Amino acid sequence: MKLIIASNNAHKIREIKEILYSEFDTILSLKEAGIDHETVEDGETFIDNALKKAREISEISGECALADDSGITAHALGDRPGVYSARFAGEHGDDEANNRLLLKMLEDKDDRTAHYTAAMALVYPDGTTLTAEGYMYGKIIHAPRGNGGFGYDPLFVLDGEERTVAEMTAEEKNAVSHRANALKALLSKLTN
Ligand code: IMP
Repeated sequence: MKLIIASNNAHKIREIKEILYSEFDTILSLKEAGIDHETVEDGETFIDNALKKAREISEISGECALADDSGITAHALGDRPGVYSARFAGEHGDDEANNRLLLKMLEDKDDRTAHYTAAMALVYPDGTTLTAEGYMYGKIIHAPRGNGGFGYDPLFVLDGEERTVAEMTAEEKNAVSHRANALKALLSKLTN
């Protein structure tokens, strides 16, 4: 069976291929499948957004589609940034502004604990769906450190670590990331 990943992010595509290669004959990015489509991510949960993206790509292609959605939740801020992680400070994908706003909102908070969530949704051409979530727990430090990773990684220190995720290697992050955990959870549902 063919799988289309609802993304063109090379890092995500590689991670997904590495974990799901045994379950599909061919795994293609959107670009490789010749699809140019942007989903409006207006869901209230990570699963809602992942399902919406996967459904649209499966309908367009007539193939099996996999989509993800992810973000960070600071426990002192309720559900925030949550599904708004990419546009927390307004402009989509302005990591520096997002990080500044997160630090500002946590300024007077004692609880700096946080977690990343990744949701994965797989949609088959007949409309059947399979979803899974994965997490990575840690805390938000007071000033950014490191040049690796992306997004909130310079502020996030994993439980049991001293370094921020931006100071870890890509391999170290990928071994424990919320995305890897979500993919492994999805794989175990696929094979059971
Ligand atoms: P998306 O799931 O690729 O749309 O990511 C949503 C947003 O969540 C990103 O723009 C980042 O702000 C944040 N995010 C998700 N995963 C990570 C991660 O592994 N590191 C840092 N930030 C992340």
